[in-house]
Amino acid sequence: MAESTDRTSNRSGSAQSDNVLAPGSGADSEYLRKLLDSIPALVASLNPNWEVEFVNQSLLSYLGKPLEELKDWKNSGVVHPHDLETAIASVAKADRTGEAFNMEVRCRRHDDSFHWFQIHAVPFRSSDGLIERWNVQMVDIEDRKHTEHALESRERDLRIAIDTMPVLAWSANPDGTADFFNEHFLTYTGLSSELAAGWGWTSALHPDDRAPLAAYWQTLVAEGHEGEFEARMRRFDGAYRYLLFRANPLRDDDGRIVKWFGTNTDINDRKEAEEQLRRSEAFLAEAQHLTRIGRFSWCVATGEIRWSEELYSMFDFEPGATITFDLIASRCHPDDLSYLSDMHYRASQAMRDLEYEHRVIMSDGRVKYLHLIAHAREDAGETLEYIGAAQDVTQRRLGEEALAKARQELANVTRATSLGVLTASIAHEVNQPLAGIITNASTCLRMLDGTPPNVDGARETARRTIRDGNRAAAVIARLRSLFGQKKIVAGPINLSEVAQEVISMSASELHGRRVSLQQELADDLPLIQADRIQLQQVILNLLRNAADAIEGVTDRPRAIRITTARDGAHVYLAVRDAGIGLDPLLGETIFEAFNTTKPNGMGIGLSVSRSIITAHHGLIWGEQNDGPGATFTFSLPIQPPTEDTMNA
Ligand code: ADP
Repeated sequence: MAESTDRTSNRSGSAQSDNVLAPGSGADSEYLRKLLDSIPALVASLNPNWEVEFVNQSLLSYLGKPLEELKDWKNSGVVHPHDLETAIASVAKADRTGEAFNMEVRCRRHDDSFHWFQIHAVPFRSSDGLIERWNVQMVDIEDRKHTEHALESRERDLRIAIDTMPVLAWSANPDGTADFFNEHFLTYTGLSSELAAGWGWTSALHPDDRAPLAAYWQTLVAEGHEGEFEARMRRFDGAYRYLLFRANPLRDDDGRIVKWFGTNTDINDRKEAEEQLRRSEAFLAEAQHLTRIGRFSWCVATGEIRWSEELYSMFDFEPGATITFDLIASRCHPDDLSYLSDMHYRASQAMRDLEYEHRVIMSDGRVKYLHLIAHAREDAGETLEYIGAAQDVTQRRLGEEALAKARQELANVTRATSLGVLTASIAHEVNQPLAGIITNASTCLRMLDGTPPNVDGARETARRTIRDGNRAAAVIARLRSLFGQKKIVAGPINLSEVAQEVISMSASELHGRRVSLQQELADDLPLIQADRIQLQQVILNLLRNAADAIEGVTDRPRAIRITTARDGAHVYLAVRDAGIGLDPLLGETIFEAFNTTKPNGMGIGLSVSRSIITAHHGLIWGEQNDGPGATFTFSLPIQPPTEDTMNA
């Protein structure tokens, strides 16, 4: 031990005395030795040259070596080779400073196993202050070391767990200064733990969010409760992203906050998706507002109805009010209430699509026209749900109604005008022969009344009467031929196709008259030989009559059904309406010309239709329905008569 050579002044002669721990009498020394041997502590004493001079019994037994082998402790093999350097350094330092010291080293036990020891060495000085002894106490700390190791490795595991967790984690002191950031946090922000520590992490916050988040964090720290905050933080690549900051205080048994723990979660993608959703919802709401379209859904089983904002304002309902059929009915035009029950009925029959146009009356008496379309779909639970849209078509409808009215008025004027012209020309053509007949007949009577009667003259005037009569008949025949059948241009036609053409032509008119048209057109009809234009005229006439018959109906759906089908050797077409039905007093006369029950009717539609169908060797008839309304049907033979027979 180099340190001991220049410290001879520390040594005293009492190093050789019997009392190795303190100078004193022999009896005292013996007593002390016994005392030290009997206590369970491990103690030893070294002279100022760091040679072991005394080892108590407990320590001797523990080490399993005699004192002689322990004297030169560095070479005794007691201290673990790995710890020898530490031990020598500690001793050298104590030798220099003369101060007590502690060291932890592994020492070999009697069973050759190494145990960790804490060695506490205290200098014993003589009255003149020189060091006479180093008294040493050794404490077996093997168990403590084990616990420490276990703790260390648990801490290491915990650190690895915290670092590998896919969140940014941190902890802070009770005053809010950050003292730890996990690996993810540092990688994410690109900050070093030194830069981030304390309040350094706030440098990564978006300038606009720095003050608000710092203020919030200080409030949390002051009030001592958990909390969360959304703020933008700069990522290592310079991009600012939204993070959710969450902090929780950890308290000791007295309720004092000893630590804050927190996580930051990147919610940028979610935020962006939310923003996009919000924007597209806003667009949709705006589009709905512009187009006056509202959306709704209706779960048939539960009766739950959900409306979009636009629909609430369309019906003038308080936004968010619970929508029920009763509530809707309270706004529905009384004449259109039947649509609601029809809707229920169709839904109960699981019909896929619904389409209605009906009126609603606002609280201020305004009438709105709504066009509603809904499509049924079944979700995974097989519950039927309708998804639909309703459009406010008031402006369009009012425009169409005004247009239809104008058209109707124009048609009436044209009809009246052409009727007037026709009447005038008939009057003109027929008047002359009629006047001739009357004059001739009077002359004839006068001649016969003479005495003697002028028989020859009377014969002549009677002949002239016949001539004028024939002229009048010829005028009528000419007129009939003017209105009569034109030559049929027969070609192969499909009756369903012709019906479809007429439906397309009259769709807007029917729609304008708020008539819903249902079609059941057979798609496998055989072709027939017929005049397409003339058949179109017939179908158009039947549809118009049906719409006329429905005009005043308000207590049931204003529906017309057009059907085509094959029946044996014939194809037929039927137009069924829910209108006022046939007048029983009229009977078959409705097919005769100029028979009409309508104020503006001419009564020639059905007569022309019959002449066309008859010319095609078909039949046309009308009958009263079981329920309300009438059905007009015509049938045509599939085997075409030759063109000659048709035009005969
Ligand atoms: P107009 O339609 O000009 O009256 P039509 O010859 O087409 O002439 O019809 C004659 C009459 O037949 C009508 O005025 C009406 O009384 C009756 N009629 C025709 N179709 C129907 C119908 N679908 N329902 C009830 N009555 C009808």
